[in-house]
Amino acid sequence: MEERFWWRCNTEVKMLDDYEFKLCRDAWFEGKKVVEKELEKRNIKDFVWLDKIETFEQYRYLLEMYRILTGEYESNPLAILHHQSSQFGKDCPNCKKPFRTSRAIYCASCGYGSENLTKI
Ligand SMILES: [Zn+2]
Repeated sequence: MEERFWWRCNTEVKMLDDYEFKLCRDAWFEGKKVVEKELEKRNIKDFVWLDKIETFEQYRYLLEMYRILTGEYESNPLAILHHQSSQFGKDCPNCKKPFRTSRAIYCASCGYGSENLTKI
């Protein structure tokens, strides 16, 4: 897990590595047992479940897993599906924001590298 700039939110978010992203997806599809297994693995005994926080039941365990991994409650479950570091490219040498895809050849935030694009 690392903090990286995410252009859709225009702010730094906690991005998951591929293993953590898989844990969230597994928790989404398979539910509570995946979250309980991770709590046991991390020896977390005082975890407080989101029973009192209203959320879509469908995404509940995805949100629980993200909270274990990052320490943050994200209220938008669909945003988490974009919080995977490897979905983005390397950090821009100029502005340090990640390229928007792994294949991007210029920075959409500051324009770094765009001088190499073919002009029409
Ligand atoms: Zn840039």
